[in-house]
Amino acid sequence: MEEKQLACPVCQSNKAAIAGENVKLSGKFEDKEFLTTELTVLRCTKCGYYMFFDKMASFTTKDE
Ligand SMILES: [Zn+2]
Repeated sequence: MEEKQLACPVCQSNKAAIAGENVKLSGKFEDKEFLTTELTVLRCTKCGYYMFFDKMASFTTKDE
């Protein structure tokens, strides 16, 4: 399985907490509605930025 080194695109922190799993997002673009596949939502513990990943991604976690 693919492993990603997590890095927040905003503050470059590598710490994030799982905010939700198997989350589907719906949206609308122009006149089309869409629904995403199930996503894992991580929230940066430093700046609060939300990151979304599809289910195939796995993460390396580093605890202090
Ligand atoms: Zn951040």
